[in-house]
Amino acid sequence: MRKNIVAGNWKMNNDLKATRKLVKQIKKSIEDKDLNNTRVVIAPTFVNLATAVKRSKKSKLEVAAQNMHQATNGAYTGEVSGEMLKSIGVKTVILGHSERRAYFGETDALLAEKVNTALANNLEIIFCFGEELTDRKEGNQEAVVESQIKNALFQLDSNAFKHIVLAYEPVWAIGTGETASPEQAQDMHAFIRNTLASKYGSEVADSVSILYGGSVKPANAKEIFSKPDVDGGLIGGASLKVDDFSAIVSAF
Ligand code: PEP
Repeated sequence: MRKNIVAGNWKMNNDLKATRKLVKQIKKSIEDKDLNNTRVVIAPTFVNLATAVKRSKKSKLEVAAQNMHQATNGAYTGEVSGEMLKSIGVKTVILGHSERRAYFGETDALLAEKVNTALANNLEIIFCFGEELTDRKEGNQEAVVESQIKNALFQLDSNAFKHIVLAYEPVWAIGTGETASPEQAQDMHAFIRNTLASKYGSEVADSVSILYGGSVKPANAKEIFSKPDVDGGLIGGASLKVDDFSAIVSAF
């Protein structure tokens, strides 16, 4: 059975002290929760990953990186490799976030390389994609999402999908307060699952967790998560406040 996941993307927020504090608070808030089939993940910035990993040991909290470089190692000043992430105990990496695509020029082709490298390092991937507002206004959202998935993931064999979580994040809903309606999310998630099924079969498609991301808050999480093809959320802003994040975890 596929897992539910609530993952917090901290982006470029929280210094060392704030990281220690929030990790402690989140750990405490989920300690006594019956998490059932739900994984709880946080993605702090690179410099605080080792601290977060150390402080999450023997707890229900998992730690992910927000990005990694596509090369194994070498002369790439300022970059971080999958091997380095593994070496400090990080098991999951977010790839393809819309901010990486928009501000750092990450293309589908580059992301295909990153995906391959992450898997070669035995890292699990939370792979993000989603359409822009103009795509949706023009009715092109499915075509855009389909090509993002095909271009970055369809070089993989079906076994790879044991290590991949998908995160549908319509760009127009990220950090804007604007959320896709539960029906819009469900329609797109069903489309994504069908896209996977068309290439890998329904067993693989049904086994992959598909998260929704875009202004998820305690007030809307329950309804979005109640949809059959929505297996959780990638949470930005609301993951920085323990009460909000914990309430979103409880929405399952
Ligand atoms: C995100 O950045 O992945 C995200 C979903 O952000 P927010 O929840 O703030 O919209």
